[in-house]
Order: sequence, then structure tokens, then C-alpha cells
Amino acid sequence: MKVIKFGGSSLADANQIKKVCDIVLADPARRLVVVSAPGKRNSEDTKVTDLLIKLAETSLADKNCSTELKAVVDRYASIAEDLGLDNEIIDEITKDLTKRVNSSKKNPGKYMDLLKAAGEDNSAKLVAAYLKSIGKNAEYIDPAVAGMILSDEFGNAQVLPKSYNKLARLAKKDSIMIFPGFFGYSETGEVVTFSRGGSDVTGGILAAAVNAELYENFTDVDSVYAANPNIVDNPTPIPMFSYEEMRELSYAGFSVLHEEALAPVFQKGITVNIKNTNNPAAPGTLIVPSYALNEEHKKFPVVGIAADKGFMTLHVSKYMMNREIGFGRKLLQVLEEAGISYEHTPSGIDSISVIIRDKYYDEAIFDKIIKQLYAELEVDKVTLEFDQAIVMIVGNGMTHSIGTAARAAFALSNANINLNMINQGSSEVSIMFGVDAKDAKASVQALYKEFFA
Ligand code: ASP
Repeated sequence: MKVIKFGGSSLADANQIKKVCDIVLADPARRLVVVSAPGKRNSEDTKVTDLLIKLAETSLADKNCSTELKAVVDRYASIAEDLGLDNEIIDEITKDLTKRVNSSKKNPGKYMDLLKAAGEDNSAKLVAAYLKSIGKNAEYIDPAVAGMILSDEFGNAQVLPKSYNKLARLAKKDSIMIFPGFFGYSETGEVVTFSRGGSDVTGGILAAAVNAELYENFTDVDSVYAANPNIVDNPTPIPMFSYEEMRELSYAGFSVLHEEALAPVFQKGITVNIKNTNNPAAPGTLIVPSYALNEEHKKFPVVGIAADKGFMTLHVSKYMMNREIGFGRKLLQVLEEAGISYEHTPSGIDSISVIIRDKYYDEAIFDKIIKQLYAELEVDKVTLEFDQAIVMIVGNGMTHSIGTAARAAFALSNANINLNMINQGSSEVSIMFGVDAKDAKASVQALYKEFFA
């Protein structure tokens, strides 16, 4: 059995949904189908998930939200009409959305998730209805019944291990199963969603649960490229990545696949194939265990370059820091107690930098942290640096090739880019550079030129 996931642009209108169904029907092994909510039909359009967020926000502000509700219903109605479906499905979707809008708003996070999940849920119902209307043995799968059980972290849920055995039962069904992506249910029965783009995660979980022979992830590009095509013109397509390479690139801003989608398939060694709904004949890009990388791939020291803004650095210095047992633990404990998650901690002899996502920045919290560091850890100096970016070059091949770091640093210096940090060694497959956010784009371009042009 193959698990096959389609992103929002593949479900944006009736024409796209027909392509999706043709792709599913072209291979009898494609039986577990994960769908996103309808995405953008063109660059000016709005994704249904964003329409739903707007609807939830308007309703939470106790304003009249009939226009926002109509915008969502209209999207589904026009798709259903173009697919030649009867009114029954639209009545069902309208009732479902109205019920969600009228539910309790006591917990805004819970309310938001209930509304966001409607995008995928109704998309799955629509696709199942269409396949049935053309005489196929298809069914909508309710994640509650199937056992997609998630942690109760609204908007940022994680799968609970007990889901896997329950979801494994889907392998016994003989229909084409249409499973809504992006959400599941908490142990107390509340709807909870993953973070944005989370239908990829649903696909990964299902592929692992049914031990799929392949996880096909259909989007709107022919391949994954060595760099973001919005930053570099016509970047080289990369036919194959290892899980580790893809994970690092997703972390540093590659938007191809959700950062958490690979964890479940990594455990089982299931191959992921990224493909294009608009060009299904193209082979796409494979994501495989590192032992399965082919010789061609190993020739590249670097297979991908990515950059992500949105970081800040907390620099701490203390004379003779290196002699003090437990300094690092105490420093991180201060952050832990303040609820701050850290990303990296490059260090010197008498100094250490803690790199943090700047979404955690809060003036009052950081004032308290800094005071605590001076008072309890008796540090000499603490400074904060904002507007930082992380640039990464990634490649399994760099373990065996000499001079990759030197080439990268040289390329960056040639482009007049000041390096605030270099982090290599802890990961075998990547080198990380800290630069000012304003230099992120130029860094990717300079590194691309060095390794690919
Ligand atoms: N529809 C959701 C989003 O836009 C989830 C997804 O598409 O994967 O984030």
C-alpha cells in the first residue's frame, strides 16, 4: 500500500481535484490518500485555511462573521458544482461549518483549531463524494474513528504513540481511503491541529502506521531544488536526499516538506517521493535513508543551501568560564525556567552564545533572565543581538570531502558578508553560519554560486 498526500494547490479547484483522482486511480496501490484544504488558485487567491482563521478571529472578536463564513462555503460550493456533485454535500459542509462557528468560544485555541480543521475535513469529504460519484469504491475516513490521537497542544500538536497501532488497522481496508490531513483528536476528544503545513505530518504518520511501501507527497513543483527558486534563478533540481539532509534543510527554511513530517517514516525507513500533481510523469525527488543514497548523489559535497531569518543571540561572557563546572547547565536552566527554547549554543573559552528563535522574545522576560545571569551566575557581560539569520549548507558527502567549510567561508567573505557564527562538527551533514538577517539572501546566492554554478 502507498500513502499519497496532496497539498492545497492540488485541491484548489475542481480541475485540480480531477487531476488528483486520476493520479490516485492510476495505481491500485495508492489507497490511503491524505488531502489538504483547498489552497490558492492563483497568486492573489487566499487559502481556505487562511479564510477559516479569519472566520475564527472575527467570531472570537464577537463580530458578525457571516461574510467570512460565506467566503468558505462559496469555495466548497463552486468546487462541488464544477465536479457535478449534488447539493447534498454542500448542505453537509454548510451545516458542519455553522456548527463549528456556533460552538463554545471559552477556549480560543480550541475554537481556532476546530475551525481550522474544517478545511481538510470537508476537503476529504468532497474528494470521497466525487470518487463515489464516478463509481469508485472510496470512503471518507474520520480521524476520530481511525485513531489519530494527538497531544492537546492546540495549533502545535504531536502524535501520541498509541495512535500507531490503531491507525495500522487501515491497512486491512480495501477501499480508497480519503483521510483529512492537519488534525486529529486529543485524548479527551477535542479537535487539535498540527502547526501550519501539517498535512505532511499526517501523511508521515499514516505511512509509518500502515508500513507503506512508499509515501508519495504531491505538490506543485517537479522536484526539490538545491536552493529556493525565489532566491536563486533556475536552481539545480536534486533527485535524491537523505532524511537527515532534508530534515536539516526543512529546519533552515526549505518549505517543501513540514519539518516534522519525516520523523515517523525515518523510524521505518520508508521512502518519500515528492512529486508534481501538474506533471505526474516527472520522477520527482526521493527522500531515502542515507545508506540508500546512490553514487551520483555522493559526488556532491553539498546538495542544498537554505537560510532562515527570525533568530536572536544571547551572548554571555565570564572570565575563566571554561573552569567552572556546571556553567552551561545553569545558564540553560535559567532559560528553561523562563520557558525559552534554545536552538544552538556555540561557545568559546570565556563566552557562550545561545541562539534563540526571536518569536520567544519578550522584553520583560529577557530583562529578568539578564538580571538573573548577573546575580546568580556572576557573569561579566550579557548582550542581546537581534535580526539574525541562519544559513546552512547541507550534504552527506561533506563528511568525506576536504575543504567544504573553507570554500563556503571564502564564498561568503568574497560577497562581503560578515559571519557572526560558524557551527560545524555536531552534525555530520551540515555547516551552519550565523549572519545578519539582511545578508541572508546574498549568503544563499554566494554559496550557490560556489557549489553549483
Ligand atoms: N491547510 C493547512 C495549512 O495551510 C495544512 C496543510 O496544508 O498542510 O497550513
